[in-house]
Amino acid sequence: MAIDLISENSFDKKSIKALLQAEGDEELLLLNSAAKTKEKTIGNFVYLRGLIELSNYCSKNCYYCGIRKGNKSVERYIISDEEIIEAAVLAYNKGLGSLVIQSGEMCSKNFTSRIEKILKQIKSTTNDDFGITLSLGEQSEDTYKRWFDAGAHRYLLRIETSSLDLYHKIHPNNKTHDYEKRLKAIESIRKVGYNVGSGVMIGLPFQTADHLANDLLFLKEIDVDMVGMGPYIEHHLTPLYKYKDLLQPQTERLRMSLKMIACLRLMMPDINIAATTAMQSIDADGREKAIFAGANVVMPNMTPLKYRENYFLYENKTGVADTLQESLDSLQESLKKINHSIGFNQRGDSQHFKNRNN
Ligand code: SAH
Ligand code: SF4
Repeated sequence: MAIDLISENSFDKKSIKALLQAEGDEELLLLNSAAKTKEKTIGNFVYLRGLIELSNYCSKNCYYCGIRKGNKSVERYIISDEEIIEAAVLAYNKGLGSLVIQSGEMCSKNFTSRIEKILKQIKSTTNDDFGITLSLGEQSEDTYKRWFDAGAHRYLLRIETSSLDLYHKIHPNNKTHDYEKRLKAIESIRKVGYNVGSGVMIGLPFQTADHLANDLLFLKEIDVDMVGMGPYIEHHLTPLYKYKDLLQPQTERLRMSLKMIACLRLMMPDINIAATTAMQSIDADGREKAIFAGANVVMPNMTPLKYRENYFLYENKTGVADTLQESLDSLQESLKKINHSIGFNQRGDSQHFKNRNN
């Protein structure tokens, strides 16, 4: 039974699957155990990262994503260098402690140099305690190194699913969407010296509890420092939409995401786990539920408002109109209810990264 498994702390595939299928009292026990583990290991507070969605241009065609290259109805944008620096300085002044720069995938000499220049500028206008995470897709090791040397120190590249078979069902089967290449990119990120982040989508069509249990084992196996994982949300202008009738209801996908977070917190007590926007898009309290279940990172959106609605990865994406102050105020208010506080002015690397480097 799942209750015994938690106390045994044994995380093989069978026990993880049982935990993911837990219901009622057992489900509650799982979430509560994860909450206790987090409190004991890293404390009841969350780190912030201001999120800048740099551009929705993308050279890839992932079947699930609203800003895929093949979606011709998206109005494409690129934020200017000045707007990025402005947002970074605002994040710094407001005490957010760090920044995430995310974008559709672009690979070119110009893009590499541009990001390098922006990173250097951010570093020279903030201080060394200000953290920078990048989530700019698959790049060469040389590019990862240049960005690391310019001041980025965390990189998030989700594997999306650890199952090769499922990976092929949700991506075109070609060189630009290659599972092995993605794995190698994660290896390069580690080799260069970043805090390594990865994650998966939860509730994809054709995905089973077996896949999800393997995903958690995969994240443990590659020894991630940080994880961003959350529910898959369908988008009607994507190829995967044709399988919408195979999907669990969104509330179930959220519930499974919470159990995934709780399991991972028990399996890897000292990593950083994000409460993702997709959770809040399904349920107004989704973010707080994720934090209760073991997440400890929140990423308030700092993309200038005029661009925000075009970074439309999935439908009903939340927070497209909130200013930074509004989202900080509401976050603080809701965290109080679950007895958490915000770790202001901390760049918030995971304990795991610090531990593995000692
Ligand atoms: N282009 C980069 C980063 C931006 S996309 C990359 O792909 O790595 C960031 C994440 O959004 C992806 O990793 C994917 O997990 C998530 N995403 C895309 N479409 C989604 C959808 N329909 N539902 C939920 N998450 C989605
Ligand atoms: Fe591009 Fe990332 Fe969306 Fe794939 S998930 S289409 S790489 S933005």
